[in-house]
Amino acid sequence: MRRKIVAGNWKMNKTLSQGHILVDEILSLTNVSTDILKIIAPPFIHLASVSEQLSSRTDFAVAAQDCHHINSGAYTGEVSAEMIASSGAKFVIIGHSERRLYAAENNELLAQKVNIALANNLSPIFCIGENSDERNANIHLEAVRTQIKEGLFHLSPADFNKVIIAYEPVWAIGTGLTATSHQAQGVHNFIRTEINKKYGKEISENCSILYGGSCNASNAKELFSCIDIDGGLIGGASLKSADFAAIINSY
Ligand code: PEP
Repeated sequence: MRRKIVAGNWKMNKTLSQGHILVDEILSLTNVSTDILKIIAPPFIHLASVSEQLSSRTDFAVAAQDCHHINSGAYTGEVSAEMIASSGAKFVIIGHSERRLYAAENNELLAQKVNIALANNLSPIFCIGENSDERNANIHLEAVRTQIKEGLFHLSPADFNKVIIAYEPVWAIGTGLTATSHQAQGVHNFIRTEINKKYGKEISENCSILYGGSCNASNAKELFSCIDIDGGLIGGASLKSADFAAIINSY
C-alpha cells in the first residue's frame, strides 16, 4: 500500500544502550501519527530489543539492514530472513549501495534476497540508484531500470505490492550532495512509469518510493512535497534524534 514513510538506517552505528536512548528521544520528539510510518533499521543484534521498545507504537516499525538469501544452514556469521522475522522486524533493506559495493551484491543475488524476505512475511525496502559516472554519462535512468527489472520484476503482482522502493543516487549517499527535488522527482516518476508498464496503474500508484541521499531537516520538506516521492530513507541524519525527528515532523 502506498504510504508516507520515513525510515532511518543506522548502518554500523550505536551500541544497544545508545540505540535505546536514541529511540526514546525520537519517540518523545514525534507525535503519534499513523499518517506517516516511521521505520528504524538498527544493526541485527539490536533488532529484537528495539522491536520490543517500539511495540506500543503502531506508527513505528523495525527493519533489518540486510538478510541472507538462504533460509538456514552452514553460513557462519549470516542472518536469515526467518530469524529477522522472529525478532519482530517487519521490513528488510535489500540492495543498499554499501552492500552492492562492499559485499559485491548483484541484482541476481538481490532478487533471491527479495524472494526469501517475502516468503518470511518481511516487506523488502529495495534500494536502487545510479553512481556518479552513470549520472554524468546521462545513463542514470537505464541504470535504475536495470536494477528494478532484474531485482524485482520477476515478482507476482501480489508480491510486488509488498515492496517499498528507495531511490538512492549513490553520489548523494553520505556526501552532503542531495539530488534536487526536480532531479529526484524525475527519477521517481520514471520508476513509477516503469512499474505501471509492468504491473499496471493500480500497483504503480500503490507503491511507496522513498528518496535517500543526504536528506536532512532543511531539504526533506521540499523533497517530500514532490508528487512521486513518498518519504525518505535516511542515513546520517537518523543517528541524531533532533535531526531525524525534524525530518519526520517536516512531512
Ligand atoms: C543511506 O545510506 O541510505 C543514506 C541515505 O545515507 P545518508 O542519508 O547519510 O546520505
